Amino acid sequence: MHVRDLVLQKPRVLLVTTGGTITMLRGANGSLYPCEDAGMLLERIPELNTLADIDILPLTSVDSSDITPAVWLTIARAIFQRIKEYDGFVVTHGTDTLCYTAAALSFMLQELSKPVIITGSQVPLEEIGSDGRANLINAVRVAISDLAEVAVVFGSLIIRGTRAKKTSVFDMQAFISVNDVPLGTIGLAIKFSSFAKTRSRRKPLLRTAINENVALIPVYPGMKPCIIEYIAGCHDGIVLEGYGAGNIPTGEKSLIPAISQAVARNVPVVVCTQCIVGSTEMELYQVGRAALEAGAIPAMDMTPEATLVKLMWVLGQTDDMGSIDSMMQKCFVGELHEVS
Ligand code: ASP
Repeated sequence: MHVRDLVLQKPRVLLVTTGGTITMLRGANGSLYPCEDAGMLLERIPELNTLADIDILPLTSVDSSDITPAVWLTIARAIFQRIKEYDGFVVTHGTDTLCYTAAALSFMLQELSKPVIITGSQVPLEEIGSDGRANLINAVRVAISDLAEVAVVFGSLIIRGTRAKKTSVFDMQAFISVNDVPLGTIGLAIKFSSFAKTRSRRKPLLRTAINENVALIPVYPGMKPCIIEYIAGCHDGIVLEGYGAGNIPTGEKSLIPAISQAVARNVPVVVCTQCIVGSTEMELYQVGRAALEAGAIPAMDMTPEATLVKLMWVLGQTDDMGSIDSMMQKCFVGELHEVS
């Protein structure tokens, strides 16, 4: 190939579609439903083709409420199989469970040498005032950039896949980056943070072994311990959203014996915080320390979404309680700040 050809050649991007509002239509009853025709994305935004040569891979077309861990695997495998063919990947997805999928792809597609970008919209592309057009164009711009990570592109933010959280049903800036600065911002230009990983000759790894038999439950005032006992009886792992710094009731309705029993049955209990910002600090209060002493594992500054997906992914690799503990507290893909 001549240098001239190289210069003229457009980057290649694979657009993987899964459904979500961005490709939804409004039914006669006023409710939105997923449109089967993913090709409409390119018809609606023809100038995407001026940025890159885009192929569309329709994987599924569902409201993201119906995305399951099996779909995460399908997306990860589809991208990995084509990793050499494209310069970057964009996944369109519903916003409701986008953070879970972003976290799953982050753990499953490691050592990436090119970008895998997930985006969606608050308003369907077909409707007036849609944010889908800008989000998709920006997603493709980031997919042909120098970034080499799984990232969410939404509104003006580029967010690491394990750090994204949907915080608004209404705002066009529906996602924030939790406990870490964004990987980049989109304004007059796209600016990346200095810690964003960039393209290199890394050899990507596909690590899809997961155990999806994990539950995520919030602690709430008056919660009955039998809920944890029941869940521990039919799951291989539990993520408990504790209060504040990872605090768990220890009084009249103490959850501590149920946590001890679960751990004794080799069901790991990982405690994250219900707060959006901050980290577990379970030795700060006696009510957190009691859970630690019962064998709970702190999720530190991971989001509940990333904690759930990570526990599934860790349990896909080991059932040794010591290894689960150390893997949950180790940073693999920027999901937590390790305590030194
Ligand atoms: N319910 C939609 C979904 O998650 C919401 C959206 O995409 O914004 O598929």
